[in-house]
Amino acid sequence: LWQKQHQRYMALFSRSHDTTARMQSLGKFLQYLLQSLSLGAGAWLVIRGELSPGAMIASNALMSRATQPLNTLVGSWRNVLSTRTAFLRLENLLERYPEQNVGVAGPAPSGRIELRQLAAHVAGRQTPILQDVSAVFPAGSIIGVLGPSGSGKSTLARALLGIWPETHGDVLYDAVPVAAWNRDDLGPHLGYLPQDVELFEGTIAENVARFGTPDSDQVIEACKRAGVHEMVLRFPKGYDTPVGEGGSFLSGGQRQRIGLARALYRDPKILVLDEPNANLDDVGERAMVQALLDARERGSTVVLITHRRQVVAIMDHILALRDGRVTHFGTRDEVMTALQPAALAGANPPAAGLAPQAS
Ligand code: ATP
Repeated sequence: LWQKQHQRYMALFSRSHDTTARMQSLGKFLQYLLQSLSLGAGAWLVIRGELSPGAMIASNALMSRATQPLNTLVGSWRNVLSTRTAFLRLENLLERYPEQNVGVAGPAPSGRIELRQLAAHVAGRQTPILQDVSAVFPAGSIIGVLGPSGSGKSTLARALLGIWPETHGDVLYDAVPVAAWNRDDLGPHLGYLPQDVELFEGTIAENVARFGTPDSDQVIEACKRAGVHEMVLRFPKGYDTPVGEGGSFLSGGQRQRIGLARALYRDPKILVLDEPNANLDDVGERAMVQALLDARERGSTVVLITHRRQVVAIMDHILALRDGRVTHFGTRDEVMTALQPAALAGANPPAAGLAPQAS
């Protein structure tokens, strides 16, 4: 498939190259033709005594100057076209995503989150991914989000952070809709570990510091709390170790643990972690559990999406989703009792075991 695409691209490239070369030759031909004609006409006028030889040479020089820009335009026509295409693309993009309201710059959120009939939609899909999700997450608690694959957990995480493009209903941080916050002000109060981690090309320190002005003490503090400080020091360049494109120089578990440190950087009030233990071994998972307990101790609200039942014990509340709807929401014990007893027995793999059942 790649070969076919590439051949098509090369054929088009070669055609456009030939056309450009032809246009350039034509431009040159016209330029020389004009010069020759003007020189010929000048010579004829000189012979007839109607023009001096000096004026003939001067007009010829002027003529070549006048046609020069035309030639340059033909030579750089490809650039002109690509500039126009880029401009139209940008214009189209800016129309689709207009400038956001700069929002309010208020005091730091306390960590209380309220969802009111939240729905999340996506273009090209008839049914909403999330519908009618209502819940209150008290500040300083750990809320587990459980549900089978495709039930809308990651979408809920993004909607909670105000980064899902199309939502209805409300996500309120202390009674202020998330969309009304100034994103630059709100960012430092949020910690997010996406399901596929998404590290960027740069050093470990830069990634943990979210590519802002690095604060070494805070970077080390976040890594210590995520339990990765020793692991980072074992890398050849420590905190200055490059992670490669998308974190490709690190293993899946290492990426996830660095991602957790990035989420914990500067002690955010709201932590949203999307399957933070998916690639962790027992040591990594214990460190993560400790980091979450520590974050709760400091007053952060932790929203923890997971398929692993080992971490259910640290949750204060559980929200169970199925097909984008809340099937259960309440304290851990209430919800776990309502869920299938086999989930607690642990006979099944966690993903299936934690799937909420009709109570
Ligand atoms: P998992 O446990 O497998 O990570 P999840 O519960 O996190 O699943 P989501 O990733 O939120 O599930 O997806 C919920 C549903 O929304 C799925 O059916 C998915 O196909 C759909 N979906 C998610 N993102 C998009 C998108 N960008 N465009 C279209 N459909 C999407």
